[in-house]
Amino acid sequence: MSPIMSTNTTATATAAIEQAFRRYLDVYFTQRDLSGTLARLSPTITGFGTGRDETAMTFATVSQLYRRDIEQAPNPTTYRLRRPPHIQGVSPDLGLVSAELDLHTTVLDHAVSFRHLRLSLVFVQRDNDWLIEHMHLSLPTQAHGEDESYPLKELEARNQVLERLVNKKTQELQQALTEIARIATTDTLTGLSNRLKIDAYLDTAIQRAQDAAYPLSLILLDLDHFKRINDTYGHLQGDRVLVELSGLLSATIRATDLLGRWGGEEFLVICPGMTLEAAVERAEQLRAAVRAHVFPGLEQPQTASLGVASYRVGESREELITRVDAALYRAKLDGRDRVVQAL
Ligand code: GH3
Ligand code: MG
Ligand code: MG
Repeated sequence: MSPIMSTNTTATATAAIEQAFRRYLDVYFTQRDLSGTLARLSPTITGFGTGRDETAMTFATVSQLYRRDIEQAPNPTTYRLRRPPHIQGVSPDLGLVSAELDLHTTVLDHAVSFRHLRLSLVFVQRDNDWLIEHMHLSLPTQAHGEDESYPLKELEARNQVLERLVNKKTQELQQALTEIARIATTDTLTGLSNRLKIDAYLDTAIQRAQDAAYPLSLILLDLDHFKRINDTYGHLQGDRVLVELSGLLSATIRATDLLGRWGGEEFLVICPGMTLEAAVERAEQLRAAVRAHVFPGLEQPQTASLGVASYRVGESREELITRVDAALYRAKLDGRDRVVQAL
């Protein structure tokens, strides 16, 4: 016999292989006939299904794949070849069929379709029949778009989703940080700035006031005989007075001033850009406002003593505070309900 296949023989073989291929499609897909399908396989078959675990290197394991496939979807499967099968003669007794098909079936009352199923089958000639020696099924990944070798569009889409997630998380984190900063710098009872915020604001104001042309003044206010309020009306009523006073003071200062709770019933007003004279005048307004205010729940008017100091270039924060504190102390000594200017 000649080692070279004649054109005739090739054509015959091709036709026989195609016939074997179509028989296989019929028993396997249309009839879902397990024994009929297994009869189309060579005893030495190997192959791959589309599932991740579907690697089979023996007839037994290949049979298991077919059994599982047919048991899980026993209904007839209609198939449509997307183009005529491509048949290559590999050697006189080996032929390769490459085909691409769409499948439709019903599994548990659900319509199921596979499109573009790729099928490579190596047929071997055994006696007068052609059997499948190797099979390989694959489905194109959904991740790849048209004209893509790699799932770039999907990666891009996934990146966008991740980016949106990161942005959302960053925003939430930013909001949480803002909230933490607000809590850390706020006095819980009055809602005014606390010591932490006061110190930071004062440092900034002092830096600016190193330029003598830009004055800075402080007003320190302490309620008079506040202990008596607590003793007479109770601590809760004392708290209410502090909240009420905070509202009153807030309404009397400028937007550029910072009002903070310095201690128990002591309040500090930082007035950037304000001269000593103007601050004394402002302090006097605050004193008069407190005295004139009717605090709900209190029978008698409430008074406050105030110290006022202006920053001297070169002075430290502590020195400034000490001077304003001393002025307040003198206001108390001098009889309370008054404003005293620092030395
Ligand atoms: P004066 O300042 O006129 O010398 O007399 P005072 O009675 O106000 O004396 P002092 O400033 O020493 O006492 C302040 C009191 O304020 C003592 C404390 O019990 C009370 N106090 C401090 N913080 C709070 C608070 O948050 N709530 C209430 N209800 N009382 C407070
Ligand atoms: Mg007091
Ligand atoms: Mg006090």
